Amino acid sequence: MPQKAIRDYIRTIPDFPKPGIRFRDVTTLLSDPAGLAMTIEQLADPYSDVGIDKVIGLEARGFILAGAVAHRLGAGFVPVRKAGKLPGAVISQSYSLEYGEATFELHEDAIEPGETVLIVDDLLATGGTAAAGAMLAERLGARIAACAFVVDLPDLGGHARLVQMGLTVQTLCA
Ligand code: IMP
Repeated sequence: MPQKAIRDYIRTIPDFPKPGIRFRDVTTLLSDPAGLAMTIEQLADPYSDVGIDKVIGLEARGFILAGAVAHRLGAGFVPVRKAGKLPGAVISQSYSLEYGEATFELHEDAIEPGETVLIVDDLLATGGTAAAGAMLAERLGARIAACAFVVDLPDLGGHARLVQMGLTVQTLCA
């Protein structure tokens, strides 16, 4: 039997979290041992010779992936969190959501200037979330090797937006 591809493990839930949205649910990918292993390998292995110092996970599903990717690369894990969640001194970056704004924060001592980082999240849609994470990392002087995602929704423009910012984008499926 041919090996299942990553996209085969991901289910689409109609009308979640509101009518008209087709939500890509990666929990069915992460709960499968082969699916999880394949995902972490494919996210991490292009960077095994790059010297990644820190893998940044974007709240919340990005944490699950970034921790495992960091372990595989022998790197550290750094969370980018919604405002008010991190206990130490932070830098903040606001970004647009479909309706309104949100703010992401990063501990100001989480990355040393000149460190090489990989940014990881489950899904790239408009790119606002990842752009905010990238801006925070750049403000601390990080060199961003790439932004890596499991799912790309290219019609929503995020991939093009990140490339326009000069970032390298890696996605495992669309
Ligand atoms: P963006 O900022 O528009 O690129 O949205 C990406 C963020 O929203 C990521 O942190 C995703 O976890 C989340 N997101 C948006 N749509 C979906 C979806 O269909 N499935 C899972 N996460 C989603």
